[in-house]
Amino acid sequence: MVIVSACFLGVKCRYNGEGVSYPWIEDWVKDGKAIVLCPEVLGNLPIPRPPCEIQAFRVIDKCGKDQTEAFLVGAQKTLEIAKITNATMAILKSKSPSCGFGEIYDGNFSGKIVRGNGMTAELLSRHGIAIFNEDQEIEFKKSYKEKYKLEKSEVV
Ligand code: SF4
Repeated sequence: MVIVSACFLGVKCRYNGEGVSYPWIEDWVKDGKAIVLCPEVLGNLPIPRPPCEIQAFRVIDKCGKDQTEAFLVGAQKTLEIAKITNATMAILKSKSPSCGFGEIYDGNFSGKIVRGNGMTAELLSRHGIAIFNEDQEIEFKKSYKEKYKLEKSEVV
């Protein structure tokens, strides 16, 4: 199974109450190989909500409130679901303070990108789950095929 950020499917769970659309991810989910979830909703955060960024290992929203605990709860619940479903891969939204992997915003709400991981992506990665983002369709499908030894026709 593959964990997938719910907002990729148009689910309006982003901080601004919107979703996004990535047809290749939607097609993947339609094949029934995915567990769709939103770590921030699992952490009991509301929709909409102020945007959050990571500052010195804490998650702070744009109003200055420390939301670290909610992000940790969402990350832990996501990991539990990944374990229950034997998920070994994830497609997560880039740059998010929960789902971003490799790059996140710098913590100053400046729009600047720095190296780093969102809370959920970090936890999943530490537990051996391979993480991809919306711009890595080819890399994801190649890795999935190798991992599960599927015929090419099943994944392209
Ligand atoms: Fe999307 Fe992840 Fe943010 Fe939820 S936490 S809205 S799934 S990027």
